[in-house]
Amino acid sequence: MANNKISMKEMTKLEGARHVLGLSGGKDSAALAIYIKDRYPEIHDQVEYFFSDTGAELKEVYDFLDKLEAYLGKEIIRLSSGKDFDHWLKVFNDYLPSAQQRWCTRTMKIQPFEEFVGDDLVVSYIGIRADENRNGYISHKDNIKAVFPFVENGLVRDDIFQMLEDTVGIPEYYQWRSRSGCYFCFFQRQDEWLGLKRNHPELFEKARQYEQRVRTKYDWKDGEIPISGHGYTWSSQGTIDEMVERAEKREKESGIIASNKKGSERWQDTLKRMMDDDPEDQACLICSL
Ligand code: SF4
Repeated sequence: MANNKISMKEMTKLEGARHVLGLSGGKDSAALAIYIKDRYPEIHDQVEYFFSDTGAELKEVYDFLDKLEAYLGKEIIRLSSGKDFDHWLKVFNDYLPSAQQRWCTRTMKIQPFEEFVGDDLVVSYIGIRADENRNGYISHKDNIKAVFPFVENGLVRDDIFQMLEDTVGIPEYYQWRSRSGCYFCFFQRQDEWLGLKRNHPELFEKARQYEQRVRTKYDWKDGEIPISGHGYTWSSQGTIDEMVERAEKREKESGIIASNKKGSERWQDTLKRMMDDDPEDQACLICSL
């Protein structure tokens, strides 16, 4: 990807290029779309905004995209692999995806994106900020050039929050989750699994069912036999029930909720003050930027 990085100035010399901006449903890519619309209206006219939909996003993400679409005054194109997660799970031998085996991002996000751009020369706008050092895989295709307007123009975390607050607001799920992405995403921290259980108990239960399904393999002697171990739970730290239990215990011990909130402070202000971006997100750029 590094070789495909170009400056905004170099970008203007690329004749006939398509301009694309991928929205993950997260704060930084949304702020970038708003920034482009307000600061570079001539580019905004050309940009194709898109969202790679896995079909497993939270309702709050779809609501936020609708708001953003209204603000941008342009369609956000929805890309898809054409198959749902269950289909791909079967294709990948019933192994749940993980940080080491991220077939989910590859098949449900990156491939649809690469099909969308085809062999066209494309400028892809990336919402990495000036105050962070993330790379993350986007595409190795030579025809896709990446520009980083926030980095070039020195925009930092506070600028992003301000831009969102002044326009479409901060996505609601940030009250309990630090990133966008699938409801079962294995990048979730223990307290985020707890947040999922409290805010979307039905989705938590669905994620639990994936862990409880019986995986089998064929043995020449015994026929179909059950297997467990790697690829069986969403996290290498245990089942999501165990993670929730640990998060609840920690919450009780430290009184996190009580100490994080200052009287009647708005959750948006608590968020700005408390949470920094997780360095783990290095690995999840296309899903959560
Ligand atoms: S959000 Fe998580 S589970 Fe969904 S595609 Fe990205 S890495 Fe995979």
